[in-house]
Amino acid sequence: MLNDDQVARFRADLLRWYSVNERELPWRQTCDPYKIWISEIMLQQTRVAAVIPYYERFLQKFPNLRALASAPEAEVLACWAGLGYYYRARNLHKAAQQMQEAGAFPATHSQICQLPGVGEYTAAAIASIGFKLPHAVVDGNVNRVLTRLLADPVNVRSASGKKYLARVADKLLDRTEPGAFNQAVMELGATICLPKRPHCLVCPVSAFCLARKTGQQEGFPVKTPRPKIMDESRTLFWIERDGHLLLWQRPPGLRLMPGFWELPERAHIPDVYGGAKIGSFRHGITFHSYRFELWRGLPPNDCGACEWVRLDELAELPLSTVLKKAKRLVDQTRTKNIRAGASSRAVTDSGRANAKHPPVKLDSY
Ligand code: SF4
Repeated sequence: MLNDDQVARFRADLLRWYSVNERELPWRQTCDPYKIWISEIMLQQTRVAAVIPYYERFLQKFPNLRALASAPEAEVLACWAGLGYYYRARNLHKAAQQMQEAGAFPATHSQICQLPGVGEYTAAAIASIGFKLPHAVVDGNVNRVLTRLLADPVNVRSASGKKYLARVADKLLDRTEPGAFNQAVMELGATICLPKRPHCLVCPVSAFCLARKTGQQEGFPVKTPRPKIMDESRTLFWIERDGHLLLWQRPPGLRLMPGFWELPERAHIPDVYGGAKIGSFRHGITFHSYRFELWRGLPPNDCGACEWVRLDELAELPLSTVLKKAKRLVDQTRTKNIRAGASSRAVTDSGRANAKHPPVKLDSY
């Protein structure tokens, strides 16, 4: 570990570099805890470039705690649609209602930690940037910088490794400017101390870096291997009738995307009959890679737990990404068929099969 004198110089060098080199990101123009909170939740598992338009749109629609707390949940989810990991939007909404009831945004790290969807890292970011409280953030970028700085082979995925790195980050934290310091370390990890081929020649703290001294930068951090990606095939049915589409809604108690609308699979409508295959697409969720086949189906006698939803109202509803991909495929196929002069009946209309594709019980596919 660095001695006190080195720590002081490390902080000064890093903050000087950050004051000149920080990227202009919309959430860096503010210290408003509400806006910092929205940005931090959106940035969880999502790239900066992808978050920017969502962040700006979200704040236009919900500029403060009151606006977010009083909005219907479906509106919040619709504004979030496309950003993924929808439990984040639900938690934001729930937390906004709690804070609105309490009368203010919580102003201590431990209180911020109590908010739904907020963990140690997010609470430290909000506390340090929004309230200038001395809490160090530790994320993937920070882990990389710290383990390289110390050339420490600690396993960053183990519980003890996480605790150890939290202590290191706390020791390095500049307590007079915790928000700027935290953002500076993360910025260094995001723009200079990259996972592959770090830009050590322009690194403001290279003088302190043991991994660089030994030429082992890319050997850190040490991680246990992730589980393998599993391949899986699934079948979805696109069933239309009189301007309506047959869908089911995920129950409110589900951890994954509760309240979102999905296309049915065979388990939802056992007596489904259909015509042609529309196409297929892929979708990845955590450690699964799904290949979805999309079939046009005939309206069943028994819709089970599914409901007929107006096609022209789909844009107002929270739709799963899988459903959106399927809809895109249907729209593309329809356009292609129209262009080719084929009957659009083959793709849309009431789901009736054409002569080339007579009705078939889909169990036989
Ligand atoms: S010198 Fe290189 S490896 Fe060390 S912190 Fe800087 S960029 Fe990272």
